Amino acid sequence: MKITKENVFYSFCSTNKPAVSVDAPATIDFETMDCFGNQLRKPEDVMEEIDWDRINPATGPVFVKGAQPGDALKVTINKIALNEKGTVCCLNGEGTLGERIEGSHTRVTSVSDGVVHYVTAGGLKVDIPVKPMIGVIGVAPKEGLDINTGTPGKHGGNMDTTMIGEGATLYFPVAVEGALFGFGDLHAVMGDGEIGVSGLEIPADVNVTIDVCKGKAPEYPVLETEDYLAVIVSKETVDEACKCATELMQEMIAERTDLETADIVMLMSLLGDLQICQIVDPEKTVRFVFPKKYIPGLTF
Ligand code: CA
Ligand code: ZN
Repeated sequence: MKITKENVFYSFCSTNKPAVSVDAPATIDFETMDCFGNQLRKPEDVMEEIDWDRINPATGPVFVKGAQPGDALKVTINKIALNEKGTVCCLNGEGTLGERIEGSHTRVTSVSDGVVHYVTAGGLKVDIPVKPMIGVIGVAPKEGLDINTGTPGKHGGNMDTTMIGEGATLYFPVAVEGALFGFGDLHAVMGDGEIGVSGLEIPADVNVTIDVCKGKAPEYPVLETEDYLAVIVSKETVDEACKCATELMQEMIAERTDLETADIVMLMSLLGDLQICQIVDPEKTVRFVFPKKYIPGLTF
């Protein structure tokens, strides 16, 4: 099954009309546009001329039969196939260094053989290995909420998290019947923080497998890889997100082991990494990452 890029939405909302309805588990190909709705694809394309109503398109949504509020939607990212070029930008007033930039700047950059071929204005060639990731991914929030695809939260959304790549499995809290899952905003590469407000924004074809875990809704999205368990929290400030992410990881470990709280805290302090996902979106996103191998059986 394939969902083409004509099926897009711009806010996570319970009233979105599903692009498809599937039985779980389902393996699906998604065709995604970049975060600019593919409007900055040639060197002469400029930000001043883009239609801002077409920013951050997410492909979908998928109605997953049997997914009910209280369940976790499990999404495994099997394969990301990147387009042959991507776009990075920066502009006045945006990002941590926005006041040091005049106007807007874009670089349309070729991507081949696993390498981003960035070239500076002065001609310096900077080859960067690709590290493909999904910027916007999530499910509809509870009825009555309408969260634009540029904003992250409990439902997922614009989390801009470098760990959301091939081989990762995400667990989202289902808040409405069918979950209404979708994603877009792929990056060929991005640094933690996304300080200049953009990764290497790129269209892509992505293969994912979706399933439902009954009654296992996490509070915020949880990410699992072969080696790590991570919780991804978005709040108004980085400080608030850090506190909440550590609390949720402590609770997750407590529910899955018979360790005393003090031991969990000490092991989290010794082994866990608090990492910044992004600090440029309407809410700031951090993750607490814990290596699974030290606690036998630790898994979502
Ligand atoms: Ca993004
Ligand atoms: Zn992006």
